Amino acid sequence: MCGLNWFRRPGAWVLAWELWGLPGRAIAWMVAVEVVSLGAIAATAVTRPVGTDDWRTFGLLALCAVVHIELTRRIEHRREHHAEIGPFLDLRSVWNFAALLVLPPVLAGAMVVFTYGYWLRVGRRRGPGAPHRLLYSCCTVLLANQVAIVVLLAGSAVYPGVPVNVLGLAVVAAAGALRWLAGYFLIVVATMLVAPATRLRDVLGSHGEQVLEVGAMGLGLLAAGVVHQPVLLVGVVLALFALHRSVLLGQFEKAAQTDGKTSLYNAGWWTRLAENSLERTQRRRGGFGLLMLDVDFFKRVNDTHGHPAGDQLLRAIADALRGGVREVDIVGRFGGEEFVVALPEVTIEELAAVSERLRTRVKGLTVPVTSALPEVTELTGVTVSIGAALHPVTGATVEELLLAADAALLTAKNKGRDRVELAPGLYSGGLPAQRSAPN
Ligand code: GH3
Ligand code: MG
Ligand code: MG
Repeated sequence: MCGLNWFRRPGAWVLAWELWGLPGRAIAWMVAVEVVSLGAIAATAVTRPVGTDDWRTFGLLALCAVVHIELTRRIEHRREHHAEIGPFLDLRSVWNFAALLVLPPVLAGAMVVFTYGYWLRVGRRRGPGAPHRLLYSCCTVLLANQVAIVVLLAGSAVYPGVPVNVLGLAVVAAAGALRWLAGYFLIVVATMLVAPATRLRDVLGSHGEQVLEVGAMGLGLLAAGVVHQPVLLVGVVLALFALHRSVLLGQFEKAAQTDGKTSLYNAGWWTRLAENSLERTQRRRGGFGLLMLDVDFFKRVNDTHGHPAGDQLLRAIADALRGGVREVDIVGRFGGEEFVVALPEVTIEELAAVSERLRTRVKGLTVPVTSALPEVTELTGVTVSIGAALHPVTGATVEELLLAADAALLTAKNKGRDRVELAPGLYSGGLPAQRSAPN
């Protein structure tokens, strides 16, 4: 679909990328990385000539990459779909790392472009926003590769080639480590520039994924070693297939816990986490706060600006909530435009202060949206109503606290919205020093 558009109207296709809706600093960073990566390739390309044998090796590794991608692409699509933020482990790096070791720099770069290009061809989940992400990912790998090439050029006795002794292995390990660090850095910086409110632990990705990256490079080294005995490459492809299967399980576990639209915990998983947290807080005899938030007049947003704008607004509110609480607090999407926050170890004053902070934080948002009204590019002044409950005063269990917070939320709505209301028994008449709502 996108491929056809590209041939017909390349300018319009590029202009449709959601890249251009990102913050200016993010665009500048991504374009700069792309330009620098191309420059670096040009610089290293001249260091080693390309021979006939190299083309044969390139063809073999490319064939393995194709078989690997075809065998695992359904799994990868689903993984990619559930890994919107942070570094995304890419097992195609097995073939890119192998190419990096045994091929001249220009063909190693060509292998990266080939694996990414092939991925685009077989990709089914392609929307106007996807190509720039793919292009940036591809350029981060190209640039990270150049860092590794510099190490290999400086330290390896046989470059291109596989290490023949421990010293050679140490050079390859150093090249691999720097390649990983460079790629990781480039992705993390881009993620932080694109979505500054994202929590650091989400930006950094999971430890398990990073360990797998080491495994991918290990397999790449192995593939490089057996590239002259092509039959043995079948073993590498099989090992990769098994790795994919195990990665998939972990990713699906996460998918079952989070809401795809906002990346917040879904209602079921949030309730489980909140119950565990309440139990721990009870043992320490601390207070446990629970907030229920509902976006005011959200239906109007959908009706006026369309559902995509509504979704963008939901995501922005989710980010604002997550960024407005402590690491220990648990934020979830409870339903359509309703959110919940569990706050262990808080006093009534802290609960009141957090509620008010979240209310003003959301109200202060400026959210870039794709509106059905062409003249509208951003939404401001969106408000939420919040109901707050506190253990042990207004409930003993998460369920009771939810009921109490929900009742308080209804009161906040009835009193005019854009306000925080505490459950009866905490205060009567809402929070002290609260402004009256505009409507
Ligand atoms: P109130 O101030 O009383 O809460 O009014 P409201 O319009 O926010 O509440 P109402 O319950 O009437 O409408 C909620 C709307 O949220 C209706 C539903 O279509 C919309 N909605 C629910 N989930 C999603 C979603 O994931 N995306 C979008 N865009 N809209 C959603
Ligand atoms: Mg609602
Ligand atoms: Mg609402």
